[in-house]
Amino acid sequence: KSFDALNLKPNLLKGVYDMGFEAPSRIQETALPTLLADPCQNLIAQAQSGTGKTAAFVLAMLSRVDPKIPYPQVLCLSPTYELAIQTGEVAAKMGKFCTEIEMRFAVRGEEFPRGSKLTEHILIGTPGKVLDWIRFKFFDIQKIKVFVLDEADVMIAQQGHQDQCIRIHKELSPSCQMMFFSATYNQEVMEFAELIVKNPIIIRL
Ligand code: AMP
Repeated sequence: KSFDALNLKPNLLKGVYDMGFEAPSRIQETALPTLLADPCQNLIAQAQSGTGKTAAFVLAMLSRVDPKIPYPQVLCLSPTYELAIQTGEVAAKMGKFCTEIEMRFAVRGEEFPRGSKLTEHILIGTPGKVLDWIRFKFFDIQKIKVFVLDEADVMIAQQGHQDQCIRIHKELSPSCQMMFFSATYNQEVMEFAELIVKNPIIIRL
């Protein structure tokens, strides 16, 4: 079991080893071959913090970006400001040698000039702010090709967040790859997952 076998881009592999990771965790090993396959597959994963799930989807996000095209192609929704920043920090570290890839946070306190377009490849944010930025046409949601929904169970628990996620999801292109993560799994999470993700591979750790 080695990261070498996952077909990661050389600069991304360098970032992984630079972080001190030696071998993929179980979720990384299970999810990444399907997440990176062509054609790509949708994923529903039950994985708690500590399993390495963040690195799993961050690697998929960084792998699927085309740094030559200057607009958001990956959208990652986090339930809180702090989690969005943490995810961005992991992405920055893993992408340390992928110097062309840029990202931006859509979270409280972040502003962007009206009438302008985002040029970053990866957008990480909380649902309310992302909806604002869709409404202001800061980016074209139809051009998103990877959608990550992290901590879906927390989204459900927070007033309004689940509906916001569903509204964002409705605007996505049908061909967008969906990655859905939740620490817990129950009827409510399952129904939410089925709404967001069609024909998934399902991983439960
Ligand atoms: P997470 O499950 O995303 O909250 O990550 C838990 C912790 O595991 C983080 O501190 C990561 O840096 C670390 N981690 C993730 N993947 C690996 C790996 N393959 N090898 C060693 N540590 C890892």
